[in-house]
Amino acid sequence: MRSHRPTPEFPRHLEALYARFPFERSVADDPISAIRPLAWDARRAEIAGVFASTLAIGNTTAIRGAIGRLADVAEGDVGRLVDPAWAERRRARLAPFRHRWIRGDQLEFLARRLGACLEEHGSLEAVFLAGSERGGFAGGLDALARALRGDDRNGGRSRAPAGYAALFPSPLDRSRSPSKRLTLFVRWMVRERYPDLGVWRRVPTGELRIPLDQHVHWIAYHLGLTARRTRSWSVVEEVSETLRRIDPIDPIRFDFVLCHTGISGDCPKERELSVCGPCSVRPDCLLWRRRGTAS
Ligand code: SF4
Repeated sequence: MRSHRPTPEFPRHLEALYARFPFERSVADDPISAIRPLAWDARRAEIAGVFASTLAIGNTTAIRGAIGRLADVAEGDVGRLVDPAWAERRRARLAPFRHRWIRGDQLEFLARRLGACLEEHGSLEAVFLAGSERGGFAGGLDALARALRGDDRNGGRSRAPAGYAALFPSPLDRSRSPSKRLTLFVRWMVRERYPDLGVWRRVPTGELRIPLDQHVHWIAYHLGLTARRTRSWSVVEEVSETLRRIDPIDPIRFDFVLCHTGISGDCPKERELSVCGPCSVRPDCLLWRRRGTAS
């Protein structure tokens, strides 16, 4: 019976996948393309990053469209989204906003919560660091989730629109959520290397965890990085630990490649020789290991 673990050659194959990956093609398709121009301004990068990661649901074309509509609301300056002087205009313009199940009234509440957080703590990096001092990386995500939900405010969460709190699950909640969107936001803020922004300077890249979306989970399972079929924070820790053994300094550099291998269609998620033939990780892929690597 085949073991559900990476092959001994997996690190070399993963490095080959990374080295050959067409980053420019996929960055243009990714929500990060909308926030990369703000890398020079940490405050605006945090604001745009929170909204963009919150909207990161569904296909990338729809996500980029939603981010574009939000930029239109702010007339091109995301700083206005948290500017009290813009509160009335923001409320009116966001009212008809929809992206999947996310509504404009929820984004309006997020804008207010985000503005209050930045005023109180100076930055979301400070919120994350305070939480991570108490509870490691998961504690940092939990602090962000609580701050954006308004858990620590008197009645803050109870004033939130219906469904709002569910947009910011924490790995420390009973559900042990993988918290994909906040984990993605932190990756964008922390990593300096392309394509991320690197505006947070006090969180080591080696501490990052993988944003576990459906594409990353599918390939992680099929490369033997986890045997768990259901996404959870335990899977995040398991996959991140394996990547950390391959690159202790910057383990989550592989996230973009694993994710976009699925999004782009480079990986058909089935055994298809014409596509899988040149795939660097084919010797590691369960679809081929199960039935041999016949070419
Ligand atoms: S071998 Fe094929 S199915 Fe497996 S990861 Fe590579 S492209 Fe995807």
